[in-house]
Amino acid sequence: MKVILTSLTRQEKLFTLADADWFPLEVVKAGDVTATAGLRCLDAASWSLSGRLRVTLVLSCDRCGRQLLWPVDDQFVYRVAVEESGGQGGEVDEENAALWLVSGPALDLSEVFRERIFLVSPEKVLCAETCRGLCAGCGADLNLEPCRCP
Ligand SMILES: [Zn+2]
Ligand SMILES: [Zn+2]
Repeated sequence: MKVILTSLTRQEKLFTLADADWFPLEVVKAGDVTATAGLRCLDAASWSLSGRLRVTLVLSCDRCGRQLLWPVDDQFVYRVAVEESGGQGGEVDEENAALWLVSGPALDLSEVFRERIFLVSPEKVLCAETCRGLCAGCGADLNLEPCRCP
């Protein structure tokens, strides 16, 4: 979903994204996704984006492969600015909000939410700290049964 930034005013405008518009195909989820974003103009060259993402991801344990549900309620704020080619470099963001750079006058909200999905997905997934995983030899789930290796 693309929003033309220059059409925004100082009054916040709300956007709701439909799942099919943006949800990454390679990510498994349970139930519905809620993705909403409020956008408003800050000044001639920057905008404020506050978003909320609610979804339950279905992840697999890295050790035993068991599936587990990972509920996400992610609220985030970005300051959106147009990337200046050959600009004077590092500008400090006084509002302490993360910066989201766009190359033209349009902001692709789908891209923002896809990025959030990867940011909220854990790098390591364990069903439990104590998960014993699968035996590399016989494939037995060592949480449930003893190893059958000879
Ligand atoms: Zn496990
Ligand atoms: Zn074994």
